[in-house]
Amino acid sequence: MSKYIANRALRGANAIVSEAEAMLQKAIAEKGSDHPVSFPNTAYYLPLTYAMTEIAVQNLGQLKPVLAHARELLHPMPANMKWTPYLGETLDGGMATLLAAETIEAIRYIYGHEPEPYPGFELAGGTSTNGGSEAGLIGHLNGAIDDIQLRSWGIQLVDGRMPGFAAIVGAAKSNEVAVKIVRELQRRNILTFLSGNVNGRSIIDQLREEGVELGYDTYTVPFGTDTLSAIYALGFASRSALTFGGLKPGQAREILLYNRARVFAFVLALGEVDDLKYAAAAGAINFGFPVIADTVIPEILPTGVTQYEHVVSMPFNEIDGADDLEKAERLVQKCIEVRGVKVQIADVPVPVPYGSAFEGEVVRRADMRVEFGGKKSRAFEYLYMVDLDEVVDGRIEVVGPGFDETEEQGSMDLGIVVRVAGRQMQEDFEPVLERQIHYFVNGASGIQHIGQRDITWIRISNTAADKGFNIEHLGKILHARFHADFGAIVDKVEVTLYTKPEDVEQWLGKARESYDYRNKRLADLTDDAVDEFYSCTLCQSFAPDHVCVVSPERLGLCGAYNWLDCKASYSINPTGPNQPIRLGRVIDEDKGYWTGTNQYAEQASHGVVHEVAMYSIMENPMTACGCFECIVMLVPEANGVLVVNREDSSMTPVGMTFSTLAGMAGGGIQTPGVMGVGKYYLVSPKFISADGGFKRIVWMSSILKETMSEELKAVAEREGDPDLIERIADERIATTVEELLAHLEEHNHPALVMDPMF
Ligand code: SF4
Ligand code: ZN
Repeated sequence: MSKYIANRALRGANAIVSEAEAMLQKAIAEKGSDHPVSFPNTAYYLPLTYAMTEIAVQNLGQLKPVLAHARELLHPMPANMKWTPYLGETLDGGMATLLAAETIEAIRYIYGHEPEPYPGFELAGGTSTNGGSEAGLIGHLNGAIDDIQLRSWGIQLVDGRMPGFAAIVGAAKSNEVAVKIVRELQRRNILTFLSGNVNGRSIIDQLREEGVELGYDTYTVPFGTDTLSAIYALGFASRSALTFGGLKPGQAREILLYNRARVFAFVLALGEVDDLKYAAAAGAINFGFPVIADTVIPEILPTGVTQYEHVVSMPFNEIDGADDLEKAERLVQKCIEVRGVKVQIADVPVPVPYGSAFEGEVVRRADMRVEFGGKKSRAFEYLYMVDLDEVVDGRIEVVGPGFDETEEQGSMDLGIVVRVAGRQMQEDFEPVLERQIHYFVNGASGIQHIGQRDITWIRISNTAADKGFNIEHLGKILHARFHADFGAIVDKVEVTLYTKPEDVEQWLGKARESYDYRNKRLADLTDDAVDEFYSCTLCQSFAPDHVCVVSPERLGLCGAYNWLDCKASYSINPTGPNQPIRLGRVIDEDKGYWTGTNQYAEQASHGVVHEVAMYSIMENPMTACGCFECIVMLVPEANGVLVVNREDSSMTPVGMTFSTLAGMAGGGIQTPGVMGVGKYYLVSPKFISADGGFKRIVWMSSILKETMSEELKAVAEREGDPDLIERIADERIATTVEELLAHLEEHNHPALVMDPMF
């Protein structure tokens, strides 16, 4: 343990705790002890403080014990004579720093200094930025991360699409290096949090000057240009443990160990490291997150707190590399090595950067070279299987003209036809594979893919076109990714891209026949027609006792895995997270109990759950991790249930928002009356069928009504009440029980006269 680091970290910790105390005193004097304190859209109060101390801070007065605790953690500076100051003292100083930093940021929120104003700034991807505004936050950096975003990343962290996160603090040697570092991280789908500055210059400024899109959708989140805003990264880590790990606030040690074991994160300190940065770094080490600096600082070798080294110095100029870009690449590699981040990247031969981090990129009309589909042209994608000898693997053919001749920002028809063959391939997997086209194509930087089947809509940006990206590359991407991700069932892949309207017309006809056929096949696939369901335990890496039981009529609660997906996944990886569950003997047909599902639930939940009712919310409902698309919640007064979805941040009639409800629904425990579900389960005939089914829904987020209007209309018909959806209230109509009941009565909602729910 370096005395130098200990000294500086402790000095930094002392200074910041004192600063926080002074700020709190002033704030209390000006606003009063009762003045409310909160971060936006979170049910975890000040998350790090809540996780570590169990104090649910809601007003300024409650920050006093937090800072008192921080003060207690401060040890005297190591005496000059002492050679081996204890690591423990430094770590405590780090924890004190984090508590003080979170306090300061919370007070800044009160004064409107957080999120940090940053004129002219617009975050990429707006639906779930702070405040839940549609347009994204304009003129501010991001500040704290909200729960909605945490959960939507959750599933990506779980399924490995996002291997971990990097907290970058400071500024890079040059803009060029800053961009390279971030691109290297994006390429590996590592979520990147940006904060801090060196002499007033922040990596955020550097990236912005270079036109790098920052925001949730591009996996690059600008917290703030000061060091303190890095606290949001640790608030994020704390919440992961509470949300997905089923840990309770106050279990500080367990939460830190959980992060060390499961959250692949590291700190990259760019530029000079001052006292505060040392102190904050000591805070990160508590979580098991190592710190890598690109300057000369003393190192801390492994002692067990992190998995490898705690502090690694890699002076930028001394890195082995032909130029700065190569050095930047090495630096990122080193970070990954030190933390042991698991990264997978498929080699995709395209002239633009490629990786899931680019999936969320938007190509605006002004930046667009050409589009396929949308309003002005037609596009579709169609994948089917053929015999092995009917495919030439790797053959990519463009039939018809490319877009060279097409006017700028013009549009053209496109048909993507993918033929696959493989010994393990089954017809049932066709739609599963076809749906991947969306993710695969979107992974290319500068290419935007929306929709599927015959509503496909693809845009190619000017930047991508200038780099040489053409239609043939779409085929190359598909060939590479199907082999990389589905090699176990796909041996050969051939792609034909049709651009002549007459070919598109002809193939579209064939594709539509197939879509129809698949729809019917899917409709025939009922729970009664199969003798096995599938498990999904993917989320156990975050929620160790949770298991999704996936049946043909009930998909996984994240919405990403239906029965066919699980079946395909089992074929690809027979020892993986999706296992067949033999149903065995029926115990109760209505509630959905089988000997097989019960046994499986018992075993996979490690004895936490003994029975699971597939079709009831009131009795042994299925557990949830944290990834649910919607929450279904009993409204006792209305004799029904409400459904609120992740994108809806408004108040529900039970007096709680999605975020608050999520705290009750998640964590892998059964809570009768609350359930997290995938949104397509709502329209299944088996939706809480033991409790009365769809007619129990008395309130539903309007966004669901809008985005699923066709499906909901069909359900209303099925239930024999075409006006059923209008009888259901939403947040525009009712945010209290009284308003809800008034609406239900006025519209004769059927739930009012149904049997009591309990
Ligand atoms: Fe997680 Fe369930 Fe989705 Fe599997 S189906 S990834 S366990 S939420
Ligand atoms: Zn999950």
